[in-house]
Amino acid sequence: EKIEQEDKAVVTGEVVEEELDDDERSFEELGLEARLVRALSKKSIEKPTPIQRVAIPLILEGKDVVARAKTGSGKTLAYLLPVLQKLFADSPSKSNLAPAVFILVPTRELCQQVYSEVTSLIEQCRVQLKVVQLRSTMSASDLKTSLAGLPDIVVSTPACVHTCLKNGILQAKALQESLSVLVLDEADLLLSYGYEDDIKALTAYVPKRCQCLLMSATSSADVEKLKKLILHNPYILTLPEVG
Ligand code: ADP
Ligand code: MG
Repeated sequence: EKIEQEDKAVVTGEVVEEELDDDERSFEELGLEARLVRALSKKSIEKPTPIQRVAIPLILEGKDVVARAKTGSGKTLAYLLPVLQKLFADSPSKSNLAPAVFILVPTRELCQQVYSEVTSLIEQCRVQLKVVQLRSTMSASDLKTSLAGLPDIVVSTPACVHTCLKNGILQAKALQESLSVLVLDEADLLLSYGYEDDIKALTAYVPKRCQCLLMSATSSADVEKLKKLILHNPYILTLPEVG
């Protein structure tokens, strides 16, 4: 899909104007490690998209972010790159009680897509991180096996995580103690596909210190609702032409 490099992002929050006008910043200048930049280069990704340019530094700083930009603007890497970099730094001291990062997506296709993207970046960077995807078609014992290996990153639909919590396959206490980043990808679709109740149930286990990231192609009232439910004083990044 086409990437609109020219688009300027509009940020509401405390971001200074100069940062936004500086359109030439490279991935390194956004604060990403050389190994991640090299991994991107191998995929012929050389220049950040506008949403990546504004989102990556804020996410690296640990801010909650709502990123709204049309489909194809590069929202997946906008959150994956800074989240991976933070995990690279954290992994030796991690308490290893439960997954540190949950990425919630609306469909199994997207789940597979995000999973492949994460695993390929990790492989390129030669970092040992365990990434799993949960599927509603998996048996309880398969789900148990996936989660028992203490994954660093879980990619799943909200319903599947909710089921694991209800069944005790995922320990609520362990989740609360270790969850460091929660991503709601395609947040607009998460709601229109009926995952609102699952997400609401999960918010009970999201600790205050957890960084929450919400990616969306639209800015519907539903997304506003999610934002209020989960995020603490988020930075709102909006690209023009958002539906
Ligand atoms: P969105 O989630 O905003 O719809 P994606 O994250 O799926 O968009 O990205 C769309 C496509 O653009 C993907 O094929 C992705 O690999 C590619 N892409 C992402 N970032 C860049 C970049 N900085 N330069 C070139 N291509 C990119
Ligand atoms: Mg996307």
